[in-house]
Order: sequence, then C-alpha cells, then structure tokens
Amino acid sequence: MPSLKEAHKSKKLTIMLITANDPKRKSWLNVDADSDFPIQNIPFGVFLTKDNVITIGTRIGDYTIDLGALHQLGYFKGIDLTDDVFLQDRLNDFIAHGKGIWRLVRNRIADLFDAENTKLQNKKKDRNKIIFDVADIEMHLPVNVGDYTDFYSSKEHATNVGTMFRDPNNALLPNWLHIPVGYHGRSSSIVPTGKAIHRPYGQSKPAGADNPVYGPSKLVDFELEMAFITSDVNKLGERIDIKEAEDYIFGLVLFNDWSARDIQAWEYVPLGPFLGKSFGSTISPWIVTLDALEPFRTESPKQDPKPFEYLQQTGKMSFDIHLDAFIKPENGDENLVTHSNFKYMYWTMAQQLTHHTSNGCNVRTGDMMGSGTISGPTPDSYGSMLELSWRGTKPLKLSDGTERKFINDNDTVILRGYCKNDKVKIGFGDCAGKLLPAL
Ligand code: CA
Repeated sequence: MPSLKEAHKSKKLTIMLITANDPKRKSWLNVDADSDFPIQNIPFGVFLTKDNVITIGTRIGDYTIDLGALHQLGYFKGIDLTDDVFLQDRLNDFIAHGKGIWRLVRNRIADLFDAENTKLQNKKKDRNKIIFDVADIEMHLPVNVGDYTDFYSSKEHATNVGTMFRDPNNALLPNWLHIPVGYHGRSSSIVPTGKAIHRPYGQSKPAGADNPVYGPSKLVDFELEMAFITSDVNKLGERIDIKEAEDYIFGLVLFNDWSARDIQAWEYVPLGPFLGKSFGSTISPWIVTLDALEPFRTESPKQDPKPFEYLQQTGKMSFDIHLDAFIKPENGDENLVTHSNFKYMYWTMAQQLTHHTSNGCNVRTGDMMGSGTISGPTPDSYGSMLELSWRGTKPLKLSDGTERKFINDNDTVILRGYCKNDKVKIGFGDCAGKLLPAL
C-alpha cells in the first residue's frame, strides 16, 4: 500500500480525463435501459461468490466483475497497484491508493468492457473466471468504517424538527447557519443492504408521564440520507483547504440512519444522539465514485449569512441525485412514501469535510460521513416518518389499507437513488433493511 505522501503525489494524475464517463460508450455485457449500473457507473463493492470466495468487484448491468481475478490475469498492467489490493474483504487498501489510481482503474475497466474492445470479450476462459451473475453473489460491507460522523445539513429537515420540538419562530438554533452541525456515530452497527435490524430496547419518557419507562421503542423511524467515504485526508493537527476537500472523497452510498424517536427525545440532552441511533444503520453496498457523479454537478442552496472564509466555495458543489424511500409491509407491496434530492443539502460534502478537519482532527481511509436526513421543501419530500406523519399527527395510508405513523415490525424500508440526464442514468442499487420485533 502506498504511503499517505505517495497517495497524495498520485493526485497529479487527477488532471487525467475521466474517460470512463463517456456517455457514448456501450458494453459488450447486456445492460437494461433502466439499469442503475451502465458501463459509465463502475462502482466498487465487496462480494462473496458461490464458491465462497470474498473479493472486491464492480458491476455492469446484472453482472458482477471480480477485480481480484482481473488483476491476477494482468488486465491492470501499467497501473501502480499492489498485488493483493483486490484480494481483500474490504476496499480500504484500494481507497488508500488515492484519487489518481481510482480514476485509472475506472478508466481501464470501462475500456475492457467497451463493446469496441475485444481483448477480454474474446477470451472465454478469462471471462468465466471474472464475470458472475448478480443473482449468484452476496454483497458484503464495502469498507471497514473506522469512524462514522453524521451531519445535520438539510435546512428543511432541521427547520421541521425545530418547529415540532421547540419553536416554529426560532426553528433553527443560532449555530446552524454557521456550522455544519454533526455528531460522532457508532460504526460497529453499520450493515449492508439486506441485513435485518431489531427494534431496540431503551429508556423513554411517554408524553404526560411523570417517570421514564424501559422497553421496546414504540417510535422507530428511518432517515433518508447519503454518506460519503473518505481516503486519508490529513495528519493529526493539519487542516485542509476547502478547494482540496473533494480529492479525498472516494464515493457515496445510500444511508438509512435508523432512529428510535422516543429513545432519542429522552436521551439527547445535553450531549446529542446516542442509543436512539446506534442500534443499526443500513448502507447500499456499491460505492458510486465521485468521478461517476461528475456529469450531475449542480448548485447548492445559496448560503446566507456568508460562511466563514474557510468554508467558502465556488462552482457547482452539489449533485443532482433523486432519492426515494419505500415502505414494504410483510407480504405487501412497496409504497413510495417520499422523494427527495441530495441537492437540497445546505452544507456541501466539501464544507462538511473541511469543517471536520478544521480543528486538526485526522480523517482516515474508510471513514464515513452521513449527510443528515435530506428533506425537500414540500411535505411529500420529507426524509423521515417523523416529518412525513408530522410527529404522528398525520398517518400515511399504505396500499393495503393500513396506516403508518412510524415503522411497524416486519416492515422493510427501501431507499433508492439515481442521477439521470438525457444520455445516462447512474444509480446506487437498493439500500434495504427489515425491522424485526425486539429481541
Ligand atoms: Ca441522521
């Protein structure tokens, strides 16, 4: 693995074009028109093959590609990769190679699977070692998350919560427009899509009661978020310049920050969220690189008051990513309950990461930063049941006739996200988790 300094040096490669993104490319692998994973996506993940081998891979259409095998067969020749970089059960070592290498690897994969390139296409023996049907593999957690930080960066969400719990006239706390507010979460309970979560036990104080009670949470909620994964950013004591912040962001996943509202409301004063959040957090298993999202850059909301100089940025620093959340009761249909967009975030990823290091705190490879619940401006774009049902006062009706204020036992919550223009769609796949009864 290259040292931090070497990885930084490889940044000079970032002036290289992202040829993988060419919208005219087609793959010799079949890709459905509506797939989240055209050849322009090339996300990174970790999966278990049916031969019980864990490997690092990518995905095109409904095919997964074993990058460990591809590397062993010499298809990454000329790229400065360590021999075992893809023969691992997490992406941390690859991410530590730095942005220049990520870009070279994506470009090479795009070339190998391009319809006009016969190098791999004509080698059946190699193809059989490298390509698996997505139905035959099992996705694992893509990174070993060292530290996980969750921000609170949607102005609409912070305003809704402040309105409900404090004062509609002073919904935002005085610090909110100056600081990308965040807290340190728990990384051990981050799980990939498909892994069920149990309703947590905890303390809460029911409305009107004199004393708290202990038992299963009655108000389990989802939070529609995205999260970004970093490479090594800084040494302890160093700050980073906001202009460089995005160079350290490997990519993004969908993120459901499961929340027990009754536990949260009782415990959060004065130090913030704790057990109401740490019982489980679900992520989508493919990390979509920041490079793949380049065509979908967009303006972030205008910031007033102007942030401190260290947080000032220019250009299009947000991304137009459509976000949907569904509730699927056991044996029932999927019900779309909200549609939001990543671009509604008031504080950008670059601002979050710059702020995170502004006191000299070191951010390491594999660290994960949640956006905070992403709510849009209209009631059908709110990012949690707390807001959608307005603290339980406006239940949502599902297609089977039942109502939801929060999440019921055996409901599955599914988050989906994608970018789309007239040429290409880049998606994230499902971020799905079932809520099981309390243990
Ligand atoms: Ca959250």
